[in-house]
This record gives sequence, structure tokens and C-alpha cells, in this order.
Amino acid sequence: MLKRLQDHSGQWDFIIVGGGATGVGIAIDAVTRGYDVLLLEQSDFGKGTSSRSTKLVHGGVRYLEQGNLSLVMEALKERGLLLQNAPHLVRNLGFVVPTYQWWESPFYGAGLKLYNLLAGKYGFGASRILSKEQTLEHLPALDPEGLRGGVIYFDGQFDDSRLLINLVATASEHGATLLNYAEVKGFTTNSQGMVDGVTAYDSLNYEDFEARAKVVINATGPFSDIVRRLADRTAPQTLALSKGIHIVLDRDFLAGDSAIMVPHTADKRVMFAIPWHGHTLVGTTDTPLVNPEPEPLAFDTEVEFVLSTAARYFAKKPTTKDVRSVFAGIRPLVRSDDSKNTAALSREHTIRIEDSGLLTMCGGKWTTYRRMAEDCVNQAAALAKLPERDCVTHGLKIHGHDADSEQYGHLSVYGSDAPAVRRLMSDEIALSWPLNEALPYTGAEVVFGVREEMAMTLEDVLARRTRALFLNARAALDMAPRVAELMARELGQTPDWQEQQVGEFTDVACGYLMSSEP
Ligand SMILES: Cc1cc2nc3c(=O)[nH]c(=O)nc-3n(C[C@H](O)[C@H](O)[C@H](O)COP(=O)(O)OP(=O)(O)OC[C@H]3O[C@@H](n4cnc5c(N)ncnc54)[C@H](O)[C@@H]3O)c2cc1C
Repeated sequence: MLKRLQDHSGQWDFIIVGGGATGVGIAIDAVTRGYDVLLLEQSDFGKGTSSRSTKLVHGGVRYLEQGNLSLVMEALKERGLLLQNAPHLVRNLGFVVPTYQWWESPFYGAGLKLYNLLAGKYGFGASRILSKEQTLEHLPALDPEGLRGGVIYFDGQFDDSRLLINLVATASEHGATLLNYAEVKGFTTNSQGMVDGVTAYDSLNYEDFEARAKVVINATGPFSDIVRRLADRTAPQTLALSKGIHIVLDRDFLAGDSAIMVPHTADKRVMFAIPWHGHTLVGTTDTPLVNPEPEPLAFDTEVEFVLSTAARYFAKKPTTKDVRSVFAGIRPLVRSDDSKNTAALSREHTIRIEDSGLLTMCGGKWTTYRRMAEDCVNQAAALAKLPERDCVTHGLKIHGHDADSEQYGHLSVYGSDAPAVRRLMSDEIALSWPLNEALPYTGAEVVFGVREEMAMTLEDVLARRTRALFLNARAALDMAPRVAELMARELGQTPDWQEQQVGEFTDVACGYLMSSEP
């Protein structure tokens, strides 16, 4: 990527700031239309919100309740396209709403029927009302106390950072230049004061550099207002940030093949318990936040709230000792001055063009990243007076596309790359040994991450190429020295580098452990 940057002369068509779902989605859309694209990410791809979601590809049952039918329909269509374009990463999952009052099954049954109807030809399967016995067949670990029955509906589930890494590969294969560890520090302007480029810092090689473009797009999610102010110090705040946390428990808390959807928690939110990579993921919360941080932390009170909600449904009651990992993400919601409740703010995306010509794309959700990118590139191309070209991502296969990837077991998330990962194991038997008994990961995924997926730091491998940190923070810490050793071998790095990486990773990973843990 650095070579592509060095070899490039003159202006890019697009410079995109931010390597989350929004930025990388825009990069794919623009490059596949034939535009010349540079994307800069200050940390690793997906370091922000895009690795910290609930992992749902969904229309959003809650937006249905808010009456936002167009948002739901658009997201349901995108859900269908994502299953079609990245079948190795998206799966159809049954969600059961357990019911305890006589009116709940017909009420949620009708709403979820509408949800399925709105999906039209992109439907994932018809919802239906379940008896108490059928509900317990789907959710054998549900507490049967007071249960009357349930309603099952179908939605999508995915691995967010794996999808992002595959989107980066897709953009790169079509010719985009995408750099991680390249922070945009400021903007350059032309003689009319219009933004025409960026000043940036390559934090791996300790070098400043500049790049020019016909249009610059700010896709920095929760950091959007900070980046807007690099171009205009007086830019008003447009975001209302909200933190959401998740906890990860062992799989047996949610036995069976379905997820639980709780339509109304004590704080009037939706909460999910989902089977994910052999574990149970439970979340999320909604806590207003003033300043965005690269590593937002979960408060003990937030963890307790999620645990107590889960305990109402699980037969085996989880406690803080059962939490394998806790992670927090920040929603970049677009501000509405008359609402103090971020749970009620719109998840729709917005495009803002400043007087300086800087374009900011924000809001939306992971599920709709493709549609957001399409809108953004339409606007940006017009702003930059680029030749008009049609969007082609509707049916564009995403890197790794493989409709039969289940055959690769835990490597199924690699899709068509799984045989290459397996070859690393057969070429060097030590790379097939598990790195920790609690998780399925092997040295082969580490080597593949470094060679093929731009993993530069220990955290990149343990948090976003594999999901070790998100699944079991203690196990991730235990495997860190061995993973650092394997990475050093690949990158030609020294024992000092290994030690430094383990130290930096330990600092980050402590935030994923329960505060009561030593
Ligand atoms: C708790 C939670 C649960 C969610 N669950 C779901 C879900 O289940 N399904 C769904 O569809 N959506 C979900 N979402 C929404 C979805 O995750 C977000 O909409 C999406 O990830 C936002 O992506 P983004 O690229 O805009 O932001 P980010 O992923 O945060 O990316 C912004 C990037 O910009 C980079 N950056 C910042 N400043 C600079 C700079 N100066 N130079 C270079 N780079 C910079 C950051 O490092 C970051 O990587 C959830 C969100 C949260 C918080």
C-alpha cells in the first residue's frame, strides 16, 4: 500500500478519512465506479465502532416500533444483498421473543409478520407464534418460570471486523489504496480556501506525508466532529454520542440454535442474547457520552444491568465471574436538538457538505453501509465534478465469497481463503496447534493475518483478524506472547518489539476483563 501511495502522482479523485464500515464502503463504491481512491485510517481498520457492534445484519425491529418503515425496508433489502454478496460471513438466524403475558404473542406476532412482509423478496423466513414447548425446544436454556410461549422471526448475523477486513481486500483488489496506521492531522486548501487534500502521519514509519484530491470525505464515525474541526475550528457539533456495551459468556448460557430478543428492557431498549463463535453475546446498552475515545470502557453498572437482564431469561444465572469479555462501542448518532434520549435518535445516515467543501458522511448502521456509500459517492462525484458513473456494488461479490464455507469449521469466516489458511497448517504442522485451549485459533490465522490482511500489531491479530479479545480476554492475554513471536518472525521484528507489543496489548486487553479480575 505504501508503494501504491509513493507511485501515485498528482491528485486522487477521492481521499477518504476513516477505515470503518462507512469509509471502506465508500472506497469500494468509488473504486468500482472507476475513480481513483486513497483511504487513510489512523489506527487499524475496524478499530472504531465497526468491530464493536451487536453483529446483526438487520432491518431493526425497534425502528419498526418507531414507525420508521422506510428505514426498515431499506435495511432489510441491504440485509438480503449482504447475504448474497458475503455468504461466508452472514448467516440466517432464528430470534425468539419469549412471551409471559397473554397479549404478547399476538402483539409481537403481528409486528414481526409485518417485519417479514417489508423484506419482500429479500425475506429470511416467515415468523410464527410458538407454544411454550416449542419455545423451549429453540431455547433449551431459557428459564421456564412464567413462560407462556414465544414468537420466532429470522434476521442476519455476521462477524463485523472479518467483514471489514474482507471489504478492505475487495477495495484493494479493485485498485484502491488503503492504509492503516495513517492519521489525518489536518487539511490542505487551495487558493479559494477549499479543502483539496490532507496532511497525515504514518505512525508505523514515523513519517509525515501529504496527499491531494478532488474531494475529501470525512468518514470517521464518532470522531466526525473532531475531524470537521480540523477544517473549520468553529464547526458546530452535529453528533450525539452514545455508548453501547456487550458481555460475552460461555455458550451453555444460551443452548440451542436460536437467539433471544427482549423487546423491552427496564430502560425501554431492545436487548439480544446471540450465539456467536461458540459463545453467547449479550447486549446492548445506551449511555450518552461526551467525548469519543478509541477504547471506550464499560462501567460496572452497565455490566450489571446486562447481567441482571440476562438473568431474567437464562435458567443458569450469569454473574460477573462468568463474563469472558466485555466490550464497548460508540454510536455516532446524528444530533436532534429536542431529544435527550439517544435510544430514540435516528439511525439514518446524513451527508453534510461544509463551506470548505469537506464532505462528512455519518450515522446509519453496519447493515446499510453499501447504500450509504452509494449515496455518498453520488454526492461526492457531483461535488468534485467527476464524470458521472453508475454504482455497481449491488451484486458485487465481497472478497472471500463462498456459499459453502460451513465445510471449513471455525475457518468458515475466511470463505474462499480458508484453503490457503489450511495450507499454512499442512506446510508447517506447528501452525495447526491451538494457541489456547479455550479458543479454536491457531498460528496459521496469525501468519495469514500478517501476510494477507495487513495485520501490523498484536492487537490487530487478537482483536480484529481473529476475535480472541472479544470472545475471551483472559485467553487472548495468555496467547499474546506466542502470537507476538509468530508475528515477529513474519515481520522480521526483534524481541524488544515483541515485548513492547505484549505490553501495549495488555493495556488494551485489561479494559475487556471484568474490573474485579486481577
Ligand atoms: C453498541 C453498538 C451496537 C451496534 N450494533 C449494530 C448491529 O448489530 N448492526 C448494525 O447494522 N449496526 C450496528 N451498530 C452500528 C454500526 O456499528 C455503526 O454504524 C458503524 O460501525 C459505524 O461505522 P463508521 O465507519 O461510521 O465508524 P467507525 O467504525 O468508528 O470508523 C471510524 C474510523 O475513523 C478513524 N479515524 C478517526 N479519526 C481519524 C483521523 N484523524 N484520521 C484517520 N482515521 C481516523 C477511527 O480510528 C475509526 O476506525 C452498532 C453500534 C454500536 C455502538
